[in-house]
Amino acid sequence: MPTFVYMTRCDGCGHCVDICPSDIMHIDKTYRRAYNIEPNMCWECYSCVKACPQNAIDVRGYADFAPLGHSVRVLREEGKNTISWKVKFRNGHEKNFVSPIRTTPWGSIKAPEDYDIPDETALKNQELAHEPESLNIDGLPTLKPDQLKLGVV
Ligand code: SF4
Ligand code: SF4
Repeated sequence: MPTFVYMTRCDGCGHCVDICPSDIMHIDKTYRRAYNIEPNMCWECYSCVKACPQNAIDVRGYADFAPLGHSVRVLREEGKNTISWKVKFRNGHEKNFVSPIRTTPWGSIKAPEDYDIPDETALKNQELAHEPESLNIDGLPTLKPDQLKLGVV
């Protein structure tokens, strides 16, 4: 479900460019408006949709997945601290969800270079880089051998 931009709403602020994990939201050099340069590579993560202050980005469903008449709309309202989802199915059925916006201020998450460089023992550790600190927990849950079930023998 690649994204597309309503050019008349976009003001070229670049938030979608900054947040896109696939690096496919770019600013057109002539029109100074955002566009999706490679729709096939869209993760459908909706990050740009939620980040856009102008509500200028929408997502187009692939015909085999969501044919004819469906829609998914997302509205981020900072004043209310909410993100609202409206999902409309082909048969007219609607589902609405409201979630809180996480309170982490924009740009406040530590970047990888802000963490200490791991030493060589990290190579034998099952934790991913910067875990558990980056998850804001003291340690990951572990299973003891007697908690494991035997598989098919
Ligand atoms: Fe990028 Fe995600 Fe937006 Fe797709 S939905 S353009 S991957 S931010
Ligand atoms: Fe345009 Fe919205 Fe992207 Fe800003 S975040 S450049 S307004 S589409």
